[in-house]
This record gives sequence, structure tokens and C-alpha cells, in this order.
Amino acid sequence: MSKFIYSFEDGYGKGKSLLGGKGANLCEMKKIGLPVPDGFTITTEACTKYHENGGKLDEQIKEQIFENVKELENKMDKKFNSKVNPLLVSVRSGAAISMPGMMDTVLNLGLNDDTVIALANLTGNERFAYDCYRRFIQMFSDVVLEIQKYHFDKVLEKMKEDESVERDIDLSVDSLKLLVKSFKNIVFNQTKQQFPMDPNEQIIMAVEAVFRSWNNNRAKVYRRLNNIPDDIGTAVNVQSMVFGNMGETSGTGVAFTRNPSTGENQVFGEFLMNAQGEDVVAGIRTPKPVSELQKEMPQIYDEFIKTLELLESHYRDMQDVEFTIEKNKLYFLQTRTGKRTAVAAMKIAVDMFEEGIITKQEAIMRVEPNQMDILLHPMFDSDALKDAEVISNGLPASPGAASGRVYFHSDDVVKQNKDGVKTILVRTETSPEDIEGMVAAEAIVTARGGMTSHAAVVARGMGKCCVAGCGDIRVDETARVFYTKDSVFKEGDYISVDGNTGKIYKGEIKTKEMELSGDFAKFMSWTDEFRRLKIRTNADNPRDSKQAVEFGAEGIGLCRTEHMFFDEARIGIVREMIVAQNLEDRKNALDRLMPFQKDDFVGIFEVMEDRPVTIRLLDPPLHEFLPHLDSDIQKLADDMKIDFAELKQTVEGLKEFNPMLGHRGCRLAITYPEIYEMQANAIFKAVSQVIKSGKTKPSLEIMIPLIGSAKELEILRKLVIDVGSKVIKDEGIELEYKVGTMIEVPRAAIVADDIAKYADFFSFGTNDLTQMTFGFSRDDAGKFISEYVNSDILKTDPFTSIDVKGVGRLMKMATELGRQTRPDIKLGICGEHGGEPKSIEFCNSLGFEYVSCSPFRVPIARLAAAQAEIKSQN
Ligand code: PEP
Ligand code: MG
Repeated sequence: MSKFIYSFEDGYGKGKSLLGGKGANLCEMKKIGLPVPDGFTITTEACTKYHENGGKLDEQIKEQIFENVKELENKMDKKFNSKVNPLLVSVRSGAAISMPGMMDTVLNLGLNDDTVIALANLTGNERFAYDCYRRFIQMFSDVVLEIQKYHFDKVLEKMKEDESVERDIDLSVDSLKLLVKSFKNIVFNQTKQQFPMDPNEQIIMAVEAVFRSWNNNRAKVYRRLNNIPDDIGTAVNVQSMVFGNMGETSGTGVAFTRNPSTGENQVFGEFLMNAQGEDVVAGIRTPKPVSELQKEMPQIYDEFIKTLELLESHYRDMQDVEFTIEKNKLYFLQTRTGKRTAVAAMKIAVDMFEEGIITKQEAIMRVEPNQMDILLHPMFDSDALKDAEVISNGLPASPGAASGRVYFHSDDVVKQNKDGVKTILVRTETSPEDIEGMVAAEAIVTARGGMTSHAAVVARGMGKCCVAGCGDIRVDETARVFYTKDSVFKEGDYISVDGNTGKIYKGEIKTKEMELSGDFAKFMSWTDEFRRLKIRTNADNPRDSKQAVEFGAEGIGLCRTEHMFFDEARIGIVREMIVAQNLEDRKNALDRLMPFQKDDFVGIFEVMEDRPVTIRLLDPPLHEFLPHLDSDIQKLADDMKIDFAELKQTVEGLKEFNPMLGHRGCRLAITYPEIYEMQANAIFKAVSQVIKSGKTKPSLEIMIPLIGSAKELEILRKLVIDVGSKVIKDEGIELEYKVGTMIEVPRAAIVADDIAKYADFFSFGTNDLTQMTFGFSRDDAGKFISEYVNSDILKTDPFTSIDVKGVGRLMKMATELGRQTRPDIKLGICGEHGGEPKSIEFCNSLGFEYVSCSPFRVPIARLAAAQAEIKSQN
């Protein structure tokens, strides 16, 4: 006969897949000698059998349930249905992976019209007994009989009204008895059956309900979203009840073995005397800190502390426990790995390694990389946040928290900033023209755009708080107001922005800064011992480069040169270059731009010293640099002393229906090679200047964007090398450098073997590669992506985490084809995914040399890269 049930004594070592997480832990706690109320676990195999049987418990399993109840009765010296000393149990579900959505708990099973009297006599507390009974009927009816809760709530509310009391616990015994009667009537009316009085029948029904709930819709959806297989089933735990509300020598509480907010190695918890578990969480009475238990019950407290120490050293992690004291006897009902804040996670990991409890690898695996983002930015004071009013919700595009006055135009933000006013830039969407406002603002909010929209990418690069795509606000930049569902915010009004959650609040909220030394520095240095991937950064100015190096960046993987063009001092020359009607005028403007570009590069090389720096030549379509409003065009025409109509015509001529798929990237240089010639010239001259200054020798990589054909790269590689050779010769320096390309057009991935003939390296531009593989515009996809994710068409936003199946397949193909042609080709990634842990794991699996991400994500990438390598070796 197969064994479908294990008592908590017998189950040790049978594992989570058979006993579920809760069952396996209860058996383990029993094994190490902890005071756990006795009980048994019905295995996940019984669940599978139940479903194979068409939703019926087979006789063999029922028999084993009754045998185990008998055994439990003997251990507890109590009996089901006893009128003197009745056995009451809890029935809980417990899958191998904890799963909300399933039937959770039925408490006090075994109560009926007789045993309730026995319970009242035993405890000398009739009120307590009938309160348990009415709660049991309510819970059993809800989760087992599936009668909707509101039927019961209605009667309960009416009863409280009639008795003029506000709280359940203030109801009189007579009212509780009446409630029990009414609840049983509801059950009869709803099911046409009497509420089951026989505990044997109750337990079978409860077990069947747990098994049935494995296949309810909520559970199925949860499994699908979390990649949990459908066929592993859940276990059921039956455990004898202990009561914390049996008078002043009883109590109940919850505790953590270390502080879950700060990580401090000190027990943290709360308890209430003469109370049941739900009273602690319901907030009706204020619980006391566990330290007070020391005064009230010193012996119990000693045992409690010793047990917590035992539990923590057994599980080798911080534990979250539930305990109950029944008439001076301490019981542990549950233990699990405790949830903790990012600060606590890091402190606990470092402390536990230093205390010799865990290895360094384990310490590294204990901190969730995405949680770390929060450590690097300011956040709102949690007390201040409690009373704050949320006015909108958007995408948490770049972490941090900031308060300030609303402004709608970049120049206003810059002006206010000069006057010392803290501002929030609010726009429908941002464009490269807003760059100065973005630098000056405390945070950026946009109504449109997704996680890779301009606002999101630029804000992350700066480490600036940003919430993008707040679909429920409407921004009227001309009237200088924005509308939420029910209010209007004017220029100058205060709002607060939480880039960690995507929430926007009314008014000003206090923030606090985080510490980056101590444990943080120690922990980060450990990650470097284990990772294989190098971590570079996406930076295009000395300030960001310096920040990234401080965070541990080992090079620049993407220097976007276009951002340098928007500087106030140069935008005029850039525009002259664009509107030039002939080659000579264009070259003339480019000649004047060259020194600026050269100085930009000198600054970056000096900060980066001999670390590799990948400079990408101009990428965006030229019209992005021109004004669009007639008034701005007029101003520019006046400045440039040219005719408005002529300028307007040029602007119109540069407009494209699909600029992202238009005249941009290397295509610009095929048409206007002089642009890349100027940039190459500036780069090589900058290198020469730095070498000659004796400060350092740059490690240069020049990258051509948006290549789709080998021929494009052949032509442009030659252009760069011709300029390079000339400068090297003229300047009399020695220099080795690399010329490579981005893989961001799907065709480039498909013909990567051809392209590799002309590329020393590939850097995957997964923003464009995702955009073009899906055909989803990276600036507009925010409107529908969440719908796709909610409907399970997509598992996650592919602009956040690499779509391994599609985009990832192209990356793998390009990697293999590239290596066929050039076995030592250097591979990296510089799209936004380069800072996302799952994508980093994927890049590690492809054997890339580096990932590149915005400065503030560098520590996250260091940790994710270490975790990826530790995982791949286990
Ligand atoms: C990319 O496309 O992934 C990329 C890094 O380039 P950009 O975001 O500048 O288009
Ligand atoms: Mg790109």
C-alpha cells in the first residue's frame, strides 16, 4: 500500500516536493527537537491521485487520514468529537513553492454543537469557545463550502449594530450563540445541506477543498506567471490546535531572528497575551515588543530565544516564526525565511559570512540585485509616506525619490534651479532638447513613453529619479498645468516622485540618503571575486564617467556622442551644419564643432585612464537637433540670419514618417561622410593630446551604429581607419585601437558572419534590436505592453528584460556567426538590458566579455554578474 501521509516525526528528509514547503519545515522543526504541536502531512502525491481520480479522495487515502487522526488523538490525549477533551486541528495547504491563490487555512476544525460546550468547560471561557465556533463555521463555509463571505459579514455587522458595539470581540456570549445559529442557517440555505457536525466528515471535506483549490483560476494564473508546473500538486498539513487565548498564561506572537528592516542581529517581534494569531495582525490591540516577554515570562523567554538561535543556525538564514504560548507552554507553529529590506539583506549577508554561518558565495546569492537599486538612491521616509496622497501611477523608470515644484519647460527648470528652487520637470514626453532641464530638475515625470523612452534612458544614465508613462495624467505644456483624474496641478505646485514604485504624490515628502561605505563596499568587493563578466558603463561626459568608476565600472561600453551636440554652446553650430546647403558650408560648420568634440573626449579619457572606452559615432536622425515650433524656427532663422521660409522648408524636408527606421545611424554617414570624418578626427586628436600630456594612454574602441549590411561597415571602417592613420602619422604617436559595430538591426544578426569581417567587436544594441525584432516602437510601446504582460502574451516587458526566445535567439545566432569568422571577436551589450539581472545572466551564458549599463546600475550589474557565474558553476 502506498504511503500518502507522514506524521511530523516521520517526514524528516522526505523533501519539499513530497511534503510541500510548510510540511517539510514542520518535520524538520520536530526533528531538531522544537516544540511543534503534533500533526501530519498529506503528500503532494495524494493531491495528484485526487485529480487523477476525477476530483475524489480514494478510500486508501481516507483510511490513512483516519489512522493518522487516531495516532494524533493518542499523542495529544484528546479525541475527535469528545465531549470532555476534544481534539481540534488546523488544516492548511502547503505546496513546494508557496502559492497565494490557493485555499489557505481552516482553524478549529473539529468544533460542533457538542465539542464547543466541552471547549467552554475546559477553558472556563464560554465566550472564547463560541467565538472559535462562529469563526470556524465562517472559515469553513468560505474556503471549503465556497459560500461567499458577504452572507456572513452582513449578519455579523447587523448583530454588532443591534448590540451597539464596534468590535467583534465585544459581542456578548448570547449574541455569539445566535450568530452560530444564523451562520448554520446560511449554510443550509446556500447548500441545502446541514453544516457538517462530524469532525471526520469535516476533515475529509477540508482536505478535498485544499486539493480542489490547486486547480482554481487564481492558482492556475499564479503558476503560469511564475513558471510553476501544473502537475506538482500541493500537500495538506493537519496540526493540532494550540490556543493563545486561554487566559493570562497564554499568548501569541510573531518574531524575526534578526531585524528585518535594519538587519541588526537582534530578535525582533511582537506578542499579545491572551490572544489569537489574527488579533496580532488585525491591529485591534497593540502588541508588545518581544523583549517584554522577558519580564513577563522569563523562563519562556529563555526557551524562546534559544529556539530562535537554533532555528537560525539550522536554516542558516534569518527566520520569521509564529509562536503560541498555551497555559505556560511554548509552541512554534511555523518558520520560514524572513522577508527583509535591501539594507537588511546586505547587512545580514555580510554578518552571516563573518559569523561563519554561510559561505561568500551564499552571501552573494542572498541579496536580490534589483533590490540594490534602492540602496543607491535617496528614498522617502517611510513614516512621512504613510499620510501621502497618491495622485498618479506610472512606470518606475529610474529609481530615487524627490520632491519639488512642478515646471513644464526645461528653460524654466534651469532658471528656477539657478535661484535655488527644487523642481520636477513634467512633460508629455521629453526630447533631446530637454537635456538641460533634465539635469537641473530633481526628478522627471512624463505622461507618455515606456521603460526605454528618451526620458527613461536619459534619467537612468544620470541616476535621476524618473516616472514615465503616467497614462492617467494629461499635460498641457502651453497652459502650464497637468490634470489628474480629479485635480489640477499648476506651475509651482509641489509634488513628490517615487522612481522606485512609479507613484506620484501630492505635496512635499521628506527623503533620506543611503550610505555607500562599510558593508556595501565590503559586499561589492566580494562580488568582484566571483564574476567573469566585466562591467562597463554607458556614459558620455566626465561627470557620469567618474560616478561610474566610483561604482566600479571597468570601462565605457557606450559613449553616445549626440548628447554632446545639445550643449548650449554648440547646438547653434550643429544646426548650421544640418541646414548647410552645400558641402563647403557643412564642412565649415563641422570644422568649428571639432574642437568641442575633441575636448569632450579628452575629459572622458582622462577620467577613464587606461580603461577601454567605446565611442559611438552619431546615431539620431538630424531633425532631432532642429526646432519644430514656428516661433522657434523663426528665432533660429533670425540667429542664423537666414530666411524663415527656407529654414522651415529644411526642417520639413528632414521630417520622416518613421524616424526610428529612417535616415539615422550609419546611414547618415553614408550620405554625409564628413560628419563621421569630423568625429573620428576629434577622437584621434583627443587621444593624441592625452598621450602627449603623459597622463595616461587611452584604450580606444570606435563603434558604428545601426549597421545592417557588411558593405556599410566596410565603407565606414575604412573611413575611420583613414582618418586614424593620418592623425597617428601627423601627431607621431603609437596607437592600437579597435573598430567595431553595434548589432541592433535584425539583419545584422542574421549576416553577422559577413559583418564580422570588418568588426573587431560586436556590441549588442538591444534597445533597437528589441524594437525592430518585435516591430514595437520603443517610444510608444508603453501604451500597450502592460496589456500584453497582463494577458500573458508576454512574460515581461521585452524592453526591460531580454526576450530570450526571440531577440535572444538572434543574439545567440550573431554570437556564433561572428565567432565563426573571427574566433576572438570581442562581444558585449550596451542596450538598457545590460543592467538588468536576468539579461546579464543570459549574456554570461553566451560568453560575452562585458555588459555595459548606466552608472547607477553598475553595482547591480556587478552583483548580477557574480550571481550568474556562481549559478552557472553549480
Ligand atoms: C540600443 O539600440 O540598444 C542602443 C544602445 O542604442 P540607442 O539606445 O542609443 O539607440
Ligand atoms: Mg540603438
